Amino acid sequence: MSDLNKKLLIEYIDGIQEELRDISDKIWKNPELQYKEYYASNLQKEYLKKHDFSIDELEGMDTAFVASYGEGKPVIAVLGEYDALDGLSQKVSITKEPISDGGAGHGCGHNLLGTGSMGAVIAVKELIKLKKLKGTIKYYGCPAEEDLSGKVLMIKKGFFDGVDCAFSWHPFD
Ligand SMILES: [Zn+2]
Repeated sequence: MSDLNKKLLIEYIDGIQEELRDISDKIWKNPELQYKEYYASNLQKEYLKKHDFSIDELEGMDTAFVASYGEGKPVIAVLGEYDALDGLSQKVSITKEPISDGGAGHGCGHNLLGTGSMGAVIAVKELIKLKKLKGTIKYYGCPAEEDLSGKVLMIKKGFFDGVDCAFSWHPFD
């Protein structure tokens, strides 16, 4: 990718930064356990629809979805998560301050992971549109990352068929 394209992508993400931050904060404040991520997945679906993505609901998985833009190959997927963990309820603070004792909370920042991936696909979509590029960009809304089952089920059900490559990211020490 040329430096010019990288510059366009970065500038575009800077432009929607506040909206992405708002979505991430909302998901942080409404933590949902695996396969119950209705609030988060709906919030992301609405935002992606607003940015011209078409949404496919995935049969048998209420809180999983695929958002697509573009046509033909390559088909590039970017994966995002939004599930929380039990017992990690936490205010935005550097000390331990639960919002509700024993409630759910985001352990490894899935509020950021899904939202960041969503920002990436929206920026790539802008580039496809602007440069009239061939190819399809997809955002995979993936439930239940915390027990490592969501994507496995999605693969088994064939939801990744036809994807040429997929990107995922996660914090680690
Ligand atoms: Zn995680």
